Amino acid sequence: MNVLFATSEMFPLIKTGGLADVSGALPQALSNLEINIKVILPNYADLKNEYIASKSSIGKVEILGQNVEIFKTTLINSKLEIYLVDHPTFSARKGNPYMGPDKNPWHDNPDRFGLFCRAVVALAAGEFNENWHPDIIHTNDWQTGLIPALLSESDKPKNIFTIHNLAYQGVFDRQTFERLGLPWSLWRDNALEYWGNMSFMKSGIVFSDTVTTVSPTYAEEIKTKEYGYGLDGVLNNKGENLKGILNGIGEDWNPATDHLIDENYAPEHMAGKYITKTRVQKHLGLPENEKTPLIVHIGRLVEQKGIDLLIQAIEALKDENIQFAILGTGENRFEQTLNKLAAQNPHKIAVHIGYDEKLAHRLEAAGDAFVMPSRFEPCGLNQLYSLKYGTIPIVHRVGGLADSVTHSNEETITAGTANGVVIDYLDVPAIIWAINYFVSLYENKENFNKIQLNGMNTQHEWIVSAGEYKKIYLALLQEH
Ligand code: ADP
Repeated sequence: MNVLFATSEMFPLIKTGGLADVSGALPQALSNLEINIKVILPNYADLKNEYIASKSSIGKVEILGQNVEIFKTTLINSKLEIYLVDHPTFSARKGNPYMGPDKNPWHDNPDRFGLFCRAVVALAAGEFNENWHPDIIHTNDWQTGLIPALLSESDKPKNIFTIHNLAYQGVFDRQTFERLGLPWSLWRDNALEYWGNMSFMKSGIVFSDTVTTVSPTYAEEIKTKEYGYGLDGVLNNKGENLKGILNGIGEDWNPATDHLIDENYAPEHMAGKYITKTRVQKHLGLPENEKTPLIVHIGRLVEQKGIDLLIQAIEALKDENIQFAILGTGENRFEQTLNKLAAQNPHKIAVHIGYDEKLAHRLEAAGDAFVMPSRFEPCGLNQLYSLKYGTIPIVHRVGGLADSVTHSNEETITAGTANGVVIDYLDVPAIIWAINYFVSLYENKENFNKIQLNGMNTQHEWIVSAGEYKKIYLALLQEH
């Protein structure tokens, strides 16, 4: 079975969020399940070339008057083959794949990702010098959404579209639709047209054979008006062909082997966690105290993650015996408020604005709790990492958070299922309550250790999720 996995980011080559983690781990896990899978992504200027072998061209094709070249390479340390779609709007532009230094989306995003989609379709159609044809194309998020619509009807590979976040939809105006040279047959309600505009995301949903999203609860939520962003109708229409599969944890997130943390640890020897904790406290300028609860947060500083509410909760708790450490980048207003809060409370609150892979690992290991009050969360990876690292997740019961975190109370502690703190309703008092509740759990060492170990022993390995995707691929090929 040949599968082409199309994505706009992939760890460790280029990463802005969870999609990169999935693209870095899922194809590898599928290839371990005997699937001949190759990944295709844009050849960004900031792609980390040290992780790939030398590239060779498989030719140039003219697409909408533009020359597009594809390079072929492999990931070093694995046999996974990668195609890199080369065009100056990717390869001659440094920085974030989706937005400029002013944090606004690149003005030509529909053109660049439209071109990327067409290059993937051209590769599948055999237009490049490559004698490999996918039976299945697995597309991901809006940047790849035009692929299912553009595949030619004859000899069409089956395709699956995975929604990692429905909030980012790739909606553009009608002039853009015309500029992208799309056939008018696609400008209709049961195609790309979306309330008078065009939507890449809708294209992916409507034209793919199967839609998946990254947790079972999110798969249900997006069928409702509240979480459906106007696409609940088309998502409901998919019926049985919409499924939720929870993401897994990549091999690089394991406290027993993680080379980015200060000392390794495992359930049977936890000392490394507390050594890492005090070193991280020192690194962040917080008082080094193993006993003071350290609550961490890592993520994009945007409303989705509830950072506005979290800031207010932290402000209300700043005089308690609790330390907070926050790592993230995002909207300027949140970055500024957080920096101010840290400057005013240097012994309680540490803030690092920026993207820092190593610090992310160290914080996951150092924290006693990870607070994640997301308004919605398709899957969420940090709570999965937290479970594995013995860092209690404090979460809002939505999406993948609901599917992976079980609230700790007498009943669940006795049953051995407790692994975190969960709130059903999201507001500032609820977050404050949850943090205080966590502190009360933390103070009862016996119960706390049980909750911690329940989390560390939870299995969220990619191989399990990959098995679910493989089942979908097999079912699609049978239909073929
Ligand atoms: P999303 O994809 O919505 O951003 P996820 O929880 O699914 O959220 O995945 C986020 C991923 O990005 C995690 O691996 C997280 O550790 C990482 N991450 C987010 N912000 C930062 C940052 N500032 N520095 C390092 N890693 C980050």
